[in-house]
Amino acid sequence: MILDDFSLKGKVAVVTGANTGLGQGMCVALAQAGAKVAGVARRSCEETASLIAKDGGEFFEVLADLSDTRNVPVILNTVLEKYGCVDILVNNAGIILREDAVNVTEEDWNKVINLNLNMVFLLSQAFARQYMKQGHGGKIVNVASMTSYQGGIRIPAYTSSKSAVLGLTRELANEWARFGINVNAIAPGYMATNNTAQLRDDEKRSGEILERIPAGRWGTPKDMAGAVVFLCSDAASYVHGFTVAVDGGWLAR
Ligand code: NAD
Repeated sequence: MILDDFSLKGKVAVVTGANTGLGQGMCVALAQAGAKVAGVARRSCEETASLIAKDGGEFFEVLADLSDTRNVPVILNTVLEKYGCVDILVNNAGIILREDAVNVTEEDWNKVINLNLNMVFLLSQAFARQYMKQGHGGKIVNVASMTSYQGGIRIPAYTSSKSAVLGLTRELANEWARFGINVNAIAPGYMATNNTAQLRDDEKRSGEILERIPAGRWGTPKDMAGAVVFLCSDAASYVHGFTVAVDGGWLAR
């Protein structure tokens, strides 16, 4: 039956940036759908763990700094040691640094590109190799942005990284679809998390943004639930290389 295809029972899901915001929301959703969730974060995921435990789900914390690419094999091996296989990767961790383009330092540019793009590629590559070894496919869901489609302002590295995530999602899907690996992305709109705290604190900007969102409200981590469970499930087995907007209608405007 169709709803069975949405079940993630028995699947092992790895979510980066699991301690807060959208990552936390997606961990909770995947666990509710039946997955065993390994959350990667720099800091303790205590809150995420307790939200999942409340629902009777399973959560495993992997502490790792994703700005260090040496952690790619460490993360994969830690999860393999615990569960023996992996089925789902959600590349959620990301940072945004706001500054006029003329003042952005090379160091800040690299910080954003390394985490938001290089790490997404390297983790995807490591997981795809493992999926191919396991021989029964797998899912990769990247977190894109409205800046995958639009320029934004005062966030040149962020916009570049998220535009690249959309392209990378398509490219990897083309290469890996024949191995039963689904690579897709979710483009969140304006969501109420740390990422947008500065925007929401600015009354003028916040009002302008809110006025432009057809749904008339900021999104929440819970709004990611349906899209992420779908893309990680068998129900999406013929969906490849697509970026689903969860944006309250922002892009339709
Ligand atoms: P957030 O700041 O709460 O989450 C970012 C997550 O990334 C945190 O869990 C943080 O710990 C993790 N992280 C950052 N640097 C890390 C590092 N070096 N090592 C390990 N983890 C690290 O904000 P969020 O809104 O939940 O962001 C999640 C994703 O969603 C990001 O990729 C962001 O770009 C994207 N996004 C957010 C919005 C929004 O409106 N909030 C919109 C579009 C896209």
